[in-house]
Amino acid sequence: MTEDTMSCRDDCAACCIAPSITQSFANAPQGKAADEPCPNLDMQTLRCRIWGQSNYPSWCKAFKPEASICGNSREEALEIIRFLEKTT
Ligand code: SF4
Repeated sequence: MTEDTMSCRDDCAACCIAPSITQSFANAPQGKAADEPCPNLDMQTLRCRIWGQSNYPSWCKAFKPEASICGNSREEALEIIRFLEKTT
């Protein structure tokens, strides 16, 4: 699979958990801390509860999965994003 055709893997949501978000957004007026699940994330299904709604954040909409961030597994994605969180 190339980066151009990569899709989100099922049961991942690493990008909804590992990074911090400093801006206020739906249901998170203070943003969220790194490694804190987004309040909009359904932890049973690991799917976004507000996907496609008018309050769905623009940065979530803009984020596209790519191998350099998502790695080869959910665990690898979490490690990569945690590393980027600490170093960028
Ligand atoms: S708003 Fe939805 S897509 Fe964006 S981080 Fe939260 S759960 Fe994930």
